[in-house]
Amino acid sequence: MSQNLQAVRGMNDILPDEAETWENFEDIVRDWLKGYGYRPIRMPIVEPTPLFCRAIGEVTDIVEKEMYSFADALNGELLTLRPEGTAGCVRAAIEHNLVAAGGPQRLYYQGPMFRHERPQKGRYRQFHQIGAEALGFAGPDIDAELILMGARLWGQLGLTDIRLELNSLGSAAERAAHREALVAYLEAHEDKLDEDGKRRLHANPLRILDTKTPALQELVEAAPKLADYLGDESRAHFEALRALLDEAGVAYRINHRLVRGLDYYNRTVFEWVTDRLGAQGTVCAGGRYDGLVEQLGGKPTPAAGFAMGVERLLALWREGGEAEVIAERPAPDIYVVNQGEGAQKLAFRAAEALRDIGLDVTLHCGGGSFKSQMKKADASGAPLAVLVGDDEAAAGEVSIKPLRGGGAQRRVSFATLSETVADMLYSGAHEDEGDEEGASDGSL
Ligand code: ATP
Ligand code: MG
Repeated sequence: MSQNLQAVRGMNDILPDEAETWENFEDIVRDWLKGYGYRPIRMPIVEPTPLFCRAIGEVTDIVEKEMYSFADALNGELLTLRPEGTAGCVRAAIEHNLVAAGGPQRLYYQGPMFRHERPQKGRYRQFHQIGAEALGFAGPDIDAELILMGARLWGQLGLTDIRLELNSLGSAAERAAHREALVAYLEAHEDKLDEDGKRRLHANPLRILDTKTPALQELVEAAPKLADYLGDESRAHFEALRALLDEAGVAYRINHRLVRGLDYYNRTVFEWVTDRLGAQGTVCAGGRYDGLVEQLGGKPTPAAGFAMGVERLLALWREGGEAEVIAERPAPDIYVVNQGEGAQKLAFRAAEALRDIGLDVTLHCGGGSFKSQMKKADASGAPLAVLVGDDEAAAGEVSIKPLRGGGAQRRVSFATLSETVADMLYSGAHEDEGDEEGASDGSL
């Protein structure tokens, strides 16, 4: 029985120490997205299964073997836990007429995604993405902006060793011409293909270039390159993007085998990759998907975007030590210690009054001796403790004890508590050494 009561394999609990780092990371990311004019959108985690089959493509790793799909037990509708965010975001934009009504849109989402993969470092069954989608933009300028965004974020997070890989997939017609040459080449070497490769040879040969099988690397390295099949417009788009990146000083490497694991991309595709995370080195991936909106039933709308893997970026952030610097455990301003029934009532009022003036307050709950409560107060990291015993409560008073750097304990009327605490906190009085008026040993 108890062995069922564990998280599903590949799906992780994010415990408080770690979750605080996540929140710090998310704060930075939200500011960064706002800095580029991106607005939030929140889509459901469950979508109709056909959405992903149509958007991502039937012959892809995700749709063939990674989706958590099920029939709704009540009405039989086929549903899927979203494996990525672009399809749902585009569906929502079409459904609510966002581009037609409001013009081009810069949107971002964040949240959990689900893929039934083999769990390992940097690869989970529930993982998190932050994605940006620019809908209604045709030019290479937005492609360049999406890439510059990445470069800036790595800088802000203090991440080095992330490099940019870039390719152009051209148009559907250009890919068709390339495909013919690619199939002919692969047919000539069919004996070398693995099972996946043989199956994809005719269904989706481009995917073979994306293979992670070591034995196939040499074969795909020598395969016909898409770059040699690009027409004038695709070529011009790619050149203009490269010029903008060069101008901005963003370095990149052209990777002819970069085709991405989803079918909806055209023209620009890119990945940000690091060598510091082992095999799971891609921390952000994206590109242009001009056909997707129409493919999902909307009016033709050019678009581009990217998705970042949060777990992988956090692993890098932690490794660099930057995360720790920012993620010092937040201490409360005040720890309220109390003993006795009358004291408890006053302690609640004191804690609320201090929160009214914007302080972070931990009210001791669970009873215990003053001594043990003071230990907790010390351990909390708060600079001040507010102490309430029954004799104080009877007098309508509370005591304030500096916990850092010495300083005298004071007893004040409840009415002047907030004022005195603010004084002590902001004048640094709690750090004063020596004993002034009313110095006490902490006894009540
Ligand atoms: P990979 O080649 O690593 O499987 P992908 O091409 O399937 O990646 P995308 O669909 O482009 O990945 O997703 C964008 C990003 O989301 C990836 O670059 C990665 O950082 C992250 N990601 C994808 N799948 C997982 C997963 N199972 N666990 C953790 N992060 C993931
Ligand atoms: Mg994958």
